[in-house]
Amino acid sequence: MHRRLVISVAVSALCGAMLAGTAAPASAAAPAAVDCRKVKCVALTFDDGPVADTQRLLRTLNDRNVKATFYVVGKNVQRYPSTVRSTASAGHQIGNHSWDHADLTRLSAAQIKSQFSRADTAIKQATGKKPTTVRAPYGAHNAAVRQAAARPLVHWSVDTLDWKYRDSARIINTVKTQTKPGDIVLLHDIHKTTVNAVPGIIQALKARGFHFVTVDQLFAPAKLPAGKVTYHNRAAYRP
Ligand SMILES: [Zn+2]
Repeated sequence: MHRRLVISVAVSALCGAMLAGTAAPASAAAPAAVDCRKVKCVALTFDDGPVADTQRLLRTLNDRNVKATFYVVGKNVQRYPSTVRSTASAGHQIGNHSWDHADLTRLSAAQIKSQFSRADTAIKQATGKKPTTVRAPYGAHNAAVRQAAARPLVHWSVDTLDWKYRDSARIINTVKTQTKPGDIVLLHDIHKTTVNAVPGIIQALKARGFHFVTVDQLFAPAKLPAGKVTYHNRAAYRP
């Protein structure tokens, strides 16, 4: 089964705004018209949240008109639904990162399915939309995980190791020196040192001519097949 990956960020923003009962600013609802086949693109991805500090990250991104993708953990979505709603409303993409960040390769098929479906339900309650992509915790997957996901597994091509080195300057330097066009950068908004690094990351990549896009925008107009392989960056993807 093929699932169309390309979605309208504008539609998701409007759905989020309707659910929130507030009007989204026009600028937030208008996605940048970027064709990543023609220009340098990068997808910043933030995993494991939301946490309280995610609001600070959103201000940083939104002030700079930078779109990103958030691989959220279901139980955190349940705790901070309004954060996920405002993330989607601002034009960022939400992806499924399991219910409680279990190593899915150690679970039964039924447990894996539950991990994804509970997170889907929490995300849909918060944003009105089921996520179109998933990311396995630790990047750990097997045939059972890929089947239960029933969507493309999107992983990363730049690993900042921000969870290990809680050093903003180091994180900025890693992204600055390693990022190539089409890359997906792994970051975690649960660490303050990472959120602190984001202005520097944006400044460094903008200076190199990068456009900041969501995962869906990065691969558009490609349709990624679900359940067979994982996707790490645009350059490695062969339709
Ligand atoms: Zn994670």
